[in-house]
Amino acid sequence: MVRFFSLLMPVLILAGCHQASHDEVVKNMVSYGDHVKPVVILGGGIAGLTAAMYLQQSNIPTIVIEGPKPGGALGQSHEVNNWPGIYGVTGAKIVDNIKQHALWSGATIIEGMVKKIDCKQYPFVLDIEKGYEGEVETIQTLSCIVAMGTEPNVLGIPGERGEDGYWGRGVSNCAVCDGAFYKNKRVVVIGGGDSAVEQALYLSHLAQCVTVLVRKDAFAAKDKKALSRLLQKQNVVVRFMSSPKCIHGDGQGVVSIDVGDTVKNTVENIEVDGVFLAIGSHPNTDIFKGQLELDARGFIVLKEHQATSVRGIFAAGDIADAQFVQAITAAGDACRAALQVKRFLDS
Ligand code: NDP
Repeated sequence: MVRFFSLLMPVLILAGCHQASHDEVVKNMVSYGDHVKPVVILGGGIAGLTAAMYLQQSNIPTIVIEGPKPGGALGQSHEVNNWPGIYGVTGAKIVDNIKQHALWSGATIIEGMVKKIDCKQYPFVLDIEKGYEGEVETIQTLSCIVAMGTEPNVLGIPGERGEDGYWGRGVSNCAVCDGAFYKNKRVVVIGGGDSAVEQALYLSHLAQCVTVLVRKDAFAAKDKKALSRLLQKQNVVVRFMSSPKCIHGDGQGVVSIDVGDTVKNTVENIEVDGVFLAIGSHPNTDIFKGQLELDARGFIVLKEHQATSVRGIFAAGDIADAQFVQAITAAGDACRAALQVKRFLDS
């Protein structure tokens, strides 16, 4: 009997905590009206979904707005080896597991995009474009977790985007999404960071030849194991001090790329079928300009424990982290942000 109670006690204590938090939330909802949500999470990547799972398990009704790329950046990784306890799986599998976990916990996940946020009114007001088709719904919320991640950078060279560009017709920033089109073909990967190494490794299993263009004299990638695997591949060529100048096509697809040698000051035309960009990214913070404190590069500035400059708004994941940018740190940030929202709603 003693053993039974000692086992049950932590459960009873936890259940009691959940109930108190839930009552607080319900009280808030009654005073604001039930059209006001307790918490909305902006972004359906690893950070947003982890936070949703935590909040929902504290009995706080949670809405996630998935955004244009459900699964976020990790969803594009073909092989993840640094998620504790799991290795050799795709990023999409890890994110999908967390999404199922959030749904199982009771979270509501909405396909849509946050078009506008008013952080100056309270409750905060969000305009959500549902289903990405133009229908806009306004939601009011007592708190938010911003987990909208980053957007890949582009080169801005001729032939890349725009009417005469080959974006989606030979130029891409996602090897996992588009790699299959380049089976036994020639591709270049531009960049020297971990994403470039990851994309080049993935493409090396499909393409006839992968040329990696690095603009400095060394890789910036931190994952030295992955880099050494790449450098051992027979069909991978690395060109340092190489800067892409212009992408050429035949109207249907890419046929070649002009590459500048920054030491010799020469330009060489290389015949290729595909160009993959992996040149870093910038945070998706346009809608927060003038409302939340951002740093010079546009990342959200965090105060204590995932708090932003506006009380009741918290941030997690890559949108507030230019330094670590790891799945595990995004999940950890998200856990902290969720616990902070709970405290905020309780208070
Ligand atoms: P990074 O910013 O780390 O690297 C970007 C690369 O692109 C750099 O080599 C940079 O060159 C180059 N570059 C930037 N602009 C241009 C340009 N205009 N022309 C040519 N080259 C250019 O970005 P990543 O997306 O690779 O990584 C972002 C973060 O995510 C990092 O912290 C990384 O560690 C992390 N990450 C971790 C992974 C893992 O743990 N497995 C996988 C993927 C990413 P330069 O060095 O000269 O600036």
